[in-house]
Amino acid sequence: MKMNKIEHIGIAVKDLELSCNLYEKLLGVTPYKREQVFSEGVYTAFFRTGESKIELLQATTNESAIAGFIAKKGEGIHHIAFQVDDILAEMVRLKNEGFTLLNEEPKMGADNKLVCFVHPKGTGGVLVEICQELNIE
Ligand code: ZN
Repeated sequence: MKMNKIEHIGIAVKDLELSCNLYEKLLGVTPYKREQVFSEGVYTAFFRTGESKIELLQATTNESAIAGFIAKKGEGIHHIAFQVDDILAEMVRLKNEGFTLLNEEPKMGADNKLVCFVHPKGTGGVLVEICQELNIE
């Protein structure tokens, strides 16, 4: 098992509208999707640039991980997401390699995906997400 490619880069922002305007100018495209993820306490907007995507994340509650991140580090790159074919198998592989997973079960993330996060303490300070596309709309 391995990871296939960088699926998207997640960027924590304070104000999704302001940042959407900024990224529209920067990338020359408009977001293809906006979505609220209640389980994570975030509003998200997705931009597509060729094969890659940018996910902007704004906290909707103070308990959101994004709110904590912004308070500690300010706006900026929050996580790197890798696409996998079989998230369960990949979670087992990562655990066997000694990584700490932040959720024991895959959870429903934004953009129609099952996701799992890997603790940054074992990855050189980078929050890593692995995600598997769901074939449902
Ligand atoms: Zn993500």
